[in-house]
Amino acid sequence: MIYYSCVIFLFGAAFGSFYNVVGLRLPKGKSIVSPPSQCENCHYQLKPLDLIPILSFIFLKGKCRKCGVKIGAFHTLIELFTALLAVAAYLKFGFSVEVFVAWLMISLFAIITVSDLLYQIIQDKILLFFGIPILILRFFSPLDPWWDMFAGAFFGFGIFLLLSILSHGGMGGGDIKLYFVIGLVLGIKLTFVSIFLSAVIGLIAAIILKRGFGKTIPFGPSIAIGSLLAYFYGNNLVDWYMNLLM
Ligand SMILES: [Zn+2]
Repeated sequence: MIYYSCVIFLFGAAFGSFYNVVGLRLPKGKSIVSPPSQCENCHYQLKPLDLIPILSFIFLKGKCRKCGVKIGAFHTLIELFTALLAVAAYLKFGFSVEVFVAWLMISLFAIITVSDLLYQIIQDKILLFFGIPILILRFFSPLDPWWDMFAGAFFGFGIFLLLSILSHGGMGGGDIKLYFVIGLVLGIKLTFVSIFLSAVIGLIAAIILKRGFGKTIPFGPSIAIGSLLAYFYGNNLVDWYMNLLM
């Protein structure tokens, strides 16, 4: 188990590194394979040694090798979280169909966290790229009852559509469609839990970032965190809450 966890961690970090590039370049219509990444300050083209996920950032102490400009930890955190979450999914689900559903959702969240934070964009093609295989896998790893995935999808989609109408477009279209995919993964009960958690996290983020409700804040990252918490711990949370009420 430790061996597999290590292998999955390494793959997760490598995929996370690639998802950074996808989230960074795809919304701008740039190629995701070339050119190689470069320093935004001095345009030094990064060499293989500068591109090792997580480790390069640590060895270079967060600075460009050539000009020494500080590189933010954001992309390294995406790599780290993709890797940790990939391992967490394996430890929870083992090698099963469900673990692939989990990995697809984690991948989707990694990309939209980057694109939503940088450009406030959640692209349709990204949603489709991950949403379609998730839908297919859900038939092989069904929720109980099997149609719960559709109940969750339409519930999540509907709630966010309603919020969007009520807030006169304050909720982005990407968030609405994203919740359709999340609903497929979670089913209706955990979708409800994830909306609640995402709203709380989004509110805390808004307060910490001291932004009013007038401005749009990228809600994607809050949705990602809230949905992952619901996916991994939602049932425990509901049980705990029900016990509290009894
Ligand atoms: Zn540089």
